[in-house]
Amino acid sequence: MRVIVDHDLCQGHGVCESEAPTVFEVDQDHCVRVLVVRPDEHLRAEVEAAVQFCPTSALRIEEED
Ligand code: SF4
Repeated sequence: MRVIVDHDLCQGHGVCESEAPTVFEVDQDHCVRVLVVRPDEHLRAEVEAAVQFCPTSALRIEEED
């Protein structure tokens, strides 16, 4: 899987960092940074929670072969 961020939608709430702290980091400017663009499968539940609970729907997962 690959994590996609729409930076126009992100408002830096940090929910994603709370849900998946090894994958997302919100910097001091309230911009999310994806630390791991292609997370391992064992992180899927965390990443899916981040996508689900992001208040601005700025995240999505793209499945890759
Ligand atoms: S939860 Fe959504 S809005 Fe908040 S920092 Fe993460 S991507 Fe941005």
